[in-house]
Amino acid sequence: MAVMIDTIDRRPGGASSDWDAAREGAELYRLVSELYPICRSITGNGLRESLRSLQRHAPLSLHEVPSGARVFDWVVPKEWNIRDAYIKDSSGGKVVDFRKSNLHVVNYSVPVRKKAALSELRPHLFTLPGSPDWIPYRTSYYKETWGFCLSHRQLESLADAEYEVCIDSTLEPGHLTYGEYLIQGASDAEVLISSHCCHPSLCNDNLSGMAVAARLAQHLSARSLRYSYRFVWIPGTIGSITWLALNEARLPKIKHGLVLSCLGDPGPFHYKRSRRANAAIDQVVEHVLRHSGREFQLLDFTPHGYDERQYCSPGINLPVGCFMRTPNGGYPQYHTSADDLSLVKPESLAESLRLLLQFIAALEQNESYVNLNPKCEPQLGRRGLYHPVGGTKNAGAEDAMLWVLNFSDGGHSLLDIATRSGLPIAALSAAADQLSNAGLLAQAGGARP
Ligand code: ZN
Repeated sequence: MAVMIDTIDRRPGGASSDWDAAREGAELYRLVSELYPICRSITGNGLRESLRSLQRHAPLSLHEVPSGARVFDWVVPKEWNIRDAYIKDSSGGKVVDFRKSNLHVVNYSVPVRKKAALSELRPHLFTLPGSPDWIPYRTSYYKETWGFCLSHRQLESLADAEYEVCIDSTLEPGHLTYGEYLIQGASDAEVLISSHCCHPSLCNDNLSGMAVAARLAQHLSARSLRYSYRFVWIPGTIGSITWLALNEARLPKIKHGLVLSCLGDPGPFHYKRSRRANAAIDQVVEHVLRHSGREFQLLDFTPHGYDERQYCSPGINLPVGCFMRTPNGGYPQYHTSADDLSLVKPESLAESLRLLLQFIAALEQNESYVNLNPKCEPQLGRRGLYHPVGGTKNAGAEDAMLWVLNFSDGGHSLLDIATRSGLPIAALSAAADQLSNAGLLAQAGGARP
């Protein structure tokens, strides 16, 4: 049934009817642009500065975990900071300059100051011969080394001579920083929203997820919500491992979750299911995408990708999926300098945020009810709920009421009924409201069993 998802938006938790895609897109793009120049990593001042920028949108708190802390099988690494880096030729001209692009330095490079011949430098230089104008993104978090990334054309232009190399960095005991913000709803049951925030100047992989999560938090904080929403902005892998290790006692409260990344490119939507494969979040996202009229693809869980790898590790196994547009590794600009401000689009960012608001609306609406008049159909006309003549205008609403009445036996949620009927959950939720107001329906576990 080709019902547009906009019908979902009338309800609390949905995108409001005054949704202004152009304004939202501009705001998200402005936030991505503001974060773009900062040199982030899995620790350090660039990460802190980025999280503080997000505080203008959502009041997240910064948490600091000391280097050396054991987190499951891992250890929080030393803190990395960098002030400058360059390669100078014999005339003193910078042929590679960190100040022009922070991708030029292998992230987590140890400090270096030396003169070296090009042949000696080569093992420390990384390029992309297949994309000769782009700078690759490289890291070395757990092996102490140093290196520079440059375009292949830059490398080819270097004379076989001696160069001065400087990486003015520090790698010392410090802290791993992450951001966290809880929006308390009516229930303590939580929805976890996670985005990694450790990549330097890369827009789609990293900044789009960080920015959309911050704006999502801002929207939800103004609403009346059934669930509580816990947002975390964490460095990839070590950040989610750290957060999970520190919050193990809290995990049973997490009923649904999403990892957000790659939400700014113009590609079709992708949803990677949780390891459980049929968790409510998996069903909700699929339902909304099917009614959205937008192009999308569903992917099964694999142990590759983003922090869903940790949330869905077998001993944790949270119902957490991953929402993206073009997945990581699925676009040529991935992990290169071409994942820049020209790859992400304001309208793509806004559309991603809107779908997320619709996922959350559907989660909030997914209640189970009990029909209080289950012996034959109740007489809807007597209650002003049925319009038998020329009822095309209300036929959809009446159809939704009949589905809700028939399957509200406590054993079917509205999402189950939506799947069975092909109707959008928003229409069923509106019908459930009308039937509840008429005394024909109660929430399961409420007044009647
Ligand atoms: Zn990445």
